[in-house]
Amino acid sequence: MSEEQQSKSNRPPSVDALARSIADTGLPHPLLVDAAREAIASGDPDLARTNAARMAQVMLQRVINATGTLLHTNLGRAPNGVSQEAGYRNLELDLLTGERGSRQSHAPGLIAQLCGAESAIVVNNCASAVMLILAALAGGKGVAVSRGELVEIGGGFRVPDVMAQSGAELVEVGTTNRTRASDYAKVVDDPNTDIALVMAIHQSNFKIVGFTEMPSTKALANLGVPLVSDIGSGLVDAACPWLPSGPPSWLADEPAAKQTLADGASLVAFSGDKLLGGPQAGIIAGDAELVARCAQHPLARALRPGGLVLGALQDLALTYMRRDWEAIPFWKMAMAPTSQLEQRASAIIAASNIGSVVETTAVPGGGTLPLVEIPSIGIALPGDHRVALRSAPTAIVARVAEDTTTLDLRTVDPSDDEAMTSALQQLASGGAAEAP
Ligand SMILES: *Cc1c(COP(=O)(O)O)cnc(C)c1O
Repeated sequence: MSEEQQSKSNRPPSVDALARSIADTGLPHPLLVDAAREAIASGDPDLARTNAARMAQVMLQRVINATGTLLHTNLGRAPNGVSQEAGYRNLELDLLTGERGSRQSHAPGLIAQLCGAESAIVVNNCASAVMLILAALAGGKGVAVSRGELVEIGGGFRVPDVMAQSGAELVEVGTTNRTRASDYAKVVDDPNTDIALVMAIHQSNFKIVGFTEMPSTKALANLGVPLVSDIGSGLVDAACPWLPSGPPSWLADEPAAKQTLADGASLVAFSGDKLLGGPQAGIIAGDAELVARCAQHPLARALRPGGLVLGALQDLALTYMRRDWEAIPFWKMAMAPTSQLEQRASAIIAASNIGSVVETTAVPGGGTLPLVEIPSIGIALPGDHRVALRSAPTAIVARVAEDTTTLDLRTVDPSDDEAMTSALQQLASGGAAEAP
């Protein structure tokens, strides 16, 4: 707005006054000024409030995941509460000796114990874990990988590219569908190749079926070089000792850290926010000397996590040890009996007078267990209500198929049922029911 415009009789409101008039939206003044300026520039000052609402809606915030995908990548994978009081922490101080300590001495040791490893360290995510292992243990040397495992996990994590970035040289063995231990042995024993590691990468988000063959961990563990297994999904123990009923049937073939190490892998790498159910992190666990070499590599500093993540992982590891699985949101949601979900769905429907109970299939998601379905219960609403649901006070993310919106209860914490009920009441009352 120019001085000249301002001097006219029918001049638009000042940016500042307009910004102040929408202060009740709760945004700080500089953002309100942006919203006001944009509205005035568009010729409709009344849009300032809408602009502010849009800014608030795109901020990072708590949402209700009604998609039925337990580890939803767009929704931050595992639901995990990370909060700490403001205050100092003994992140790198040993309180027993008063000496300088290591941030890797708290949570990682507990996680190592959970998966029966000598040692462990934590980095930012599993991609970092793989990168660090390759750089520290195979920089300038060869790493034997099956052609069936040269995978893309998503978001740019492509095994050949990560390998190139790390400075290790990819040595492909076998074929897409069939690779044998002897294929690895051939390159390891070849005097013309300098193989530092054999690496197994869990296929995670796809399956090759039919005429296939992949060697077991045991068969790869004795080739004369360390075996590193990127299991990705972060199941710590296939026996699931934290679950009173043992492992659910849908976990059947998922590789677990403890068993992979027991079968002879020297190191495993996995994510913190997949089946482990924690914050975004990557864990490297296994042989103490190899873990130490990773920790000492200069990249380790660049990839190290902060105290917030390490604190959350420590809490999570202790919760696993206490076998308090219901305190781990992922496991609590994954294991909820469908009868319980049905009761909750019925109660929400009764209170809001809209929708019907339907059987659904939830999925683990997060690039794990690609063909697995977990029986679940949802609330079906005729029509597409996604826009209205996303603008509820706590945004609700639902899926739509065949012009029906389905809210899957498996991924909704019971403490959010009230918020779900009010959002559905709102839809039933017509207000927001018609998505624009
Ligand atoms: C998911 C996954 C990764 C990437 O993990 P991030 O924690 O997202 O970096 C790497 N490898 C495998 C096998 C995976 O499944």
